[in-house]
Amino acid sequence: MDLSVVVPIYNEEENVNQLYSKVTASLEPIGFEYELIFVDDGSGDRSFLLLNDIAKQDSRVKLIRFRRNFGQTAAMSAGFDAASGRVVIPMDGDLQNDPDDIPLLMTKIDEGYDVVSGWRKYRKDTFINRKLPSMIANGLISRLTEVHLHDYGCTLKAYRREVLEGINLYGEMHRFVPALASQVGAKVTEIPVKHHPRLFGKSKYGISRTVRVVLDLMTVKFLLGYSTKPIQLFGRWGVYTIMASFITGLATIYMKFFQHTNMNRNPLLILTAFLIFMGVQFIVLGLLGELNARTYYEAQGKPTYVVRERVNFEE
Ligand code: UDP
Ligand code: MG
Repeated sequence: MDLSVVVPIYNEEENVNQLYSKVTASLEPIGFEYELIFVDDGSGDRSFLLLNDIAKQDSRVKLIRFRRNFGQTAAMSAGFDAASGRVVIPMDGDLQNDPDDIPLLMTKIDEGYDVVSGWRKYRKDTFINRKLPSMIANGLISRLTEVHLHDYGCTLKAYRREVLEGINLYGEMHRFVPALASQVGAKVTEIPVKHHPRLFGKSKYGISRTVRVVLDLMTVKFLLGYSTKPIQLFGRWGVYTIMASFITGLATIYMKFFQHTNMNRNPLLILTAFLIFMGVQFIVLGLLGELNARTYYEAQGKPTYVVRERVNFEE
């Protein structure tokens, strides 16, 4: 199979029928062998019933229904796990992404890229609570992950299926897949895609998403940099803190003997004690992290490296 299109659906009853027709109209004429995987993320409206009717008529349509609302990331993750296409393309279920862009994404994949990210160059959302936070977030994510994309938040992207296989998604992490994939050596590019205003139904997110994205960004940055060596991060902070405690401690002693400042009257003494505690905590945290890293990798038999190919080995 060439292609799996994955669509998370949460209360999109006004959109699903038109979405199905649009995807079919975009993909059928090209002659792709494809499947369309809908993941109903615990909708409380008629979304599932409508999708079920579609699935009865068209065997290319596959349907997964969650027991409750687990969130867009989980829905996409379930779709990825079920996908059997050579290329996997997630898109929104609210008609904001345009399936007409799918062939374009496929062309880029065939040029040899592993990840093709959609970029909503002319994004049809409000500026203050959507486009502005997104611009800042994209800048931050690009800098910290060193994978430079204009639009991490766009759901419409294309992945070669192998790159998704080693990636597990938690929290709100679907937007970081290109960064995680690039970490295991995937070739990433982006192309502008169309974007439409939401005509039916409501957006499921507000400005509070910004905080969630920032927290996930911290997690991703940590995982990309230190998941195999947490002591290198926490231990370093610990060493610096203890070094600082030496300085403040010596200063306290100096001030006692040469400036006659009583130690119990000197706030630097408290700071010294505080820094020692913090330093020890950081180092212990780093050691616990090391223990966890070993459990994480060894219990799953996960290697700490990624091989592109092997020559002259007996398979
Ligand atoms: N969605 C979902 N589970 C959720 C929230 C959203 O499956 O908990 C789906 C939603 O139905 C839509 C897509 O994720 O297909 C994007 O959501 P939305 O359009 O609300 O996000 P926005 O475009 O406003 O960023
Ligand atoms: Mg939307």
